[in-house]
Amino acid sequence: MTETHQSPIWHPFTQHGLGDPIPLIARAEGARLYDAQGNCWIDAISSWWVTTHGHAHPRIMAAIRAQTEKLDQLIFAGWTHEAAEALAAELIRITPDPLTRVFFSDSGSTSVEVALKMALGYWFHIGEARSRILVMEHSYHGDTIGAMSVGARGVYNRAWQPLLFDVGTIPFPAEGREQATLDALEAACAAKEAGHTPAAFIVEPLILGAGGMLIYPAWVLAEMRSICAAHGVLFIADEVMTGWGRTGTRFACDQAGVIPDILCLSKGLTGGAMPLAVTLCIEPVFAAHLSTDRAKTFYHSSSYTANPIACAAANANLDIWRDEPVQARIDALADAQAAHLAMLSADVRVENPRRLGTIAALDVVQPDPGYLSTLAPRLIAFYRERGVLLRPLGNTIYVMPPYGITAGELAQVWAAIAASLEI
Ligand SMILES: *Cc1c(COP(=O)(O)O)cnc(C)c1O
Repeated sequence: MTETHQSPIWHPFTQHGLGDPIPLIARAEGARLYDAQGNCWIDAISSWWVTTHGHAHPRIMAAIRAQTEKLDQLIFAGWTHEAAEALAAELIRITPDPLTRVFFSDSGSTSVEVALKMALGYWFHIGEARSRILVMEHSYHGDTIGAMSVGARGVYNRAWQPLLFDVGTIPFPAEGREQATLDALEAACAAKEAGHTPAAFIVEPLILGAGGMLIYPAWVLAEMRSICAAHGVLFIADEVMTGWGRTGTRFACDQAGVIPDILCLSKGLTGGAMPLAVTLCIEPVFAAHLSTDRAKTFYHSSSYTANPIACAAANANLDIWRDEPVQARIDALADAQAAHLAMLSADVRVENPRRLGTIAALDVVQPDPGYLSTLAPRLIAFYRERGVLLRPLGNTIYVMPPYGITAGELAQVWAAIAASLEI
């Protein structure tokens, strides 16, 4: 394992003061990461939820290589290219009919910023004073200022609280408390006081990822969608994590028959090979900005919007979804995850075993409060030393592997988890 003491790199979500080793990875294939010395780690969290099929999928790598021979980058304001056109057309084809427009950006956070700007732009341009954003407790939508504002407040953003805008928070629909969530959403949607009229509700469908892999039922998602529709509040589905098969279906909204007004996709959009994101919206949101008046232009862009190489990777991902038995792989992984989880469920040190599609999670029973702050880092080190990349959230251990992980590799991951309950 190589440590990078001399490196000037400031890593994300990494406390350099603790001196934890930082493995230097040389190559990856399938579910495996390798360093230059031949050490290997099983990537059981899909390199932070992005790698769907597996690392270095040959078709995605080939598509990237082919695109580099043609077009590397293009200004996207007023210009277009084949890879983006093909991708947008296919995204419109595979998502529900009311979603008619595709706006490109480069990360999950920016897809959320775009969604919020689209929602507020819509109300502004149609001349209705609505600007409040409604959110769900424990949510995570990214790390830029707007995305942090609509996410849970805590240690992760305490220093920036003064920059975050005010939102209306709906309680998480925990088991037995679903009606309280629906009632709170209904009340917030109906608010009429100045400054409190809701513009949009943004939510992670079926499972809150960074909030601790918290799962809620499809019927609640469907009810929340209906409440928003009844009040004309725009419904934004943040499928940045849940998209591309993670929850067992291509999109989590599919399981609830929910069609959002605005849909955010990123992470698995390119199969996890290149940074790319899209925000899809219904025609009225686009139409509100459509005018001969330049002041109604949607003023948002980033330099690499719809980068052709990233779009080529995404097109290859969509080809894989069309031609390969992706759903069968997802179903098989979901079954294997269920079997492994069941084997640990009876353990007295395990609480709340839960699974949605390919994502399995459990909580480690906490003997005392001080235990929590040191548990995750100790577990991360334990797994790293055993050739497994896992990154628990507090006392929540979860497994979210690439769909191509082998049965043997998955067994090794769960064996490491079982062994870690002893520490
Ligand atoms: C990861 C994530 C984001 C942010 O995506 P980035 O690409 O890291 O900016 C937003 N929403 C959800 C639900 C996510 O899981």
